[in-house]
Amino acid sequence: MTPHLAIVTKLAPTPFAAGTPRPTVAVIGAGFSGVLTAVHLLRAPDGPRVLLIERGPRFGRGAAYSSANAGHLLNVRGANMSALPDAPGHFLEWLGVDQAEGERVFVTRDRYGAYLQSLLREAAGAAVGRLAFEHDDAVDVARTSGGWSVGLAMGRRVKVDAVVLAIGNLAPPAPEGVSEDVLKSDRWVADPWAWIEAKTPATGDVLLIGSGLTAVDVALSIGESAPNAQILALSRHGLAPRAHAPIHAVAARREPPSGSVRTVMRQIRNEAREDWRAAIDSLRPHIQELWRSWSVTERKRFLRHARPWWEVSRHRLAPEVAADLDRLAAAGLFEVAGGRLMSLTLAPGGLEAVWRPRGGSAPQRRRVGMAINCAGPLSDVERARDPIIAGLIRAGLARSDACRLGLDVDRASRLIGADGTVEGLYAVGPLTRGQVYEMTSVPDIRIQAADVARALLAELTGRVAESLADGPDGKTDPLSRALGLYLSERTAELDVEIQDKSASRRMRSAWELRGRREALDEVAAWLEARKTDA
Ligand SMILES: Cc1cc2nc3c(=O)[nH]c(=O)nc-3n(C[C@H](O)[C@H](O)[C@H](O)COP(=O)(O)OP(=O)(O)OC[C@H]3O[C@@H](n4cnc5c(N)ncnc54)[C@H](O)[C@@H]3O)c2cc1C
Repeated sequence: MTPHLAIVTKLAPTPFAAGTPRPTVAVIGAGFSGVLTAVHLLRAPDGPRVLLIERGPRFGRGAAYSSANAGHLLNVRGANMSALPDAPGHFLEWLGVDQAEGERVFVTRDRYGAYLQSLLREAAGAAVGRLAFEHDDAVDVARTSGGWSVGLAMGRRVKVDAVVLAIGNLAPPAPEGVSEDVLKSDRWVADPWAWIEAKTPATGDVLLIGSGLTAVDVALSIGESAPNAQILALSRHGLAPRAHAPIHAVAARREPPSGSVRTVMRQIRNEAREDWRAAIDSLRPHIQELWRSWSVTERKRFLRHARPWWEVSRHRLAPEVAADLDRLAAAGLFEVAGGRLMSLTLAPGGLEAVWRPRGGSAPQRRRVGMAINCAGPLSDVERARDPIIAGLIRAGLARSDACRLGLDVDRASRLIGADGTVEGLYAVGPLTRGQVYEMTSVPDIRIQAADVARALLAELTGRVAESLADGPDGKTDPLSRALGLYLSERTAELDVEIQDKSASRRMRSAWELRGRREALDEVAAWLEARKTDA
């Protein structure tokens, strides 16, 4: 393919035709992060082809929005769940509810998944032929001379111009103390999401390791499938997520906070005495900059001392979900305990858990029918078994961030390699949280996905432009040069080029009659005709 054909494809008003060298971006993972990155790339008329790779059964759902359980609600109000940062009312419009209702409602996660899928369908419909789906597990990513290649579990490799990793969280590691026999037995559930999806009934009483949002989802599912099972959620601090207020109070604006972890937390704790939700919500918009301003030592201090409290106050339950959980607790069917698991072993008819309670010394014991790992994802990527991450670490293309919260990325969300260099692989979603701390929810990821797509569009356009500016075969062709300048948005230079009359007569006259864009379309059509003649 000559670079000329790339220009024709980019500028031709007709749909993209297969085989033309529009650049291709592989987006690995089709949850919220991957879908939104793809949507932004597809929405750009001159954007690339997108190869969306997903190993799960459904595109556009991911871990968060796959549940069909009507009791699994969003933990953010509808009014703040638009997937598009520049259209805050987009989700409410899609739902068909007004702002007042949107400030109140927490819709099901299933419905939100349907919204994401509709966004993808719409973007694909407007960019015919530019979106391809690959239902497979991406197992490695490698550098090639002109771009990247992605290896798929079924054995194929695909060559692409750019890659975005949007693989969500890593699978939770097995907690310390769980015996090998238990890990191999069917009384142990390593992946709570797969278990919920399969609607496996609970066997006897159940131990949940962890007491966060995942544990709440699992407890509610057990409440349905085994209404008499007693559920014990065990976590280090014994804290469960707190609930949203039934009526949303808009957080007061505040000056960006500054200072050490100790200073900021003292301030927030003081404010929280009056209204803890308002105190947290007013800090929320500043947390990313605050995190960036802290040294690694300060960040670690936050993680050690403030994180558990921040997490349960910041990621809240919908009031309806909190009420369901309270009902289970009032019936003596759900309990949260604080402590460190010492052992979980096979015992006659089930499992025996032993833990040291928080603040106490005498170990506690409990017999349960099964145990479910709700302890949260692995965040230390250097311990990851996931082939794609393990491979990138081995190849030196990725490394852990200083606090071991995920992948180390720069401000543009590009992976930083073992030696500190940036090769141009992008990542979107929770695995990049080390950069800003808050990168788990829609309101944060939607901005990151749009930014990554914008950066990619500029980068890919620039790459095509660069090769065109020199013209094919190293000769300077005025048309190629003009188009290269246009694509790289160096419009001032382009005007000079055309006015200098170094561009072709045909292009100049189109430019004089109808403007720059029209002139370029004209040239694109001319090049297309030349290709056909050839
Ligand atoms: C249960 C739950 C509820 C949540 N509720 C809310 C909420 O109400 N509001 C909110 O704002 N945020 C919520 N969140 C936060 C949520 O993390 C984000 O909203 C967002 O969904 C994260 O999306 P993601 O695409 O990064 O990850 P995921 O949703 O995990 O998607 C990643 C996708 O990548 C695929 N994948 C992974 N590895 C590979 C591979 N090697 N090859 C191919 N495919 C791969 C996976 O199969 C998966 O589909 C919730 C999270 C969870 C887990």
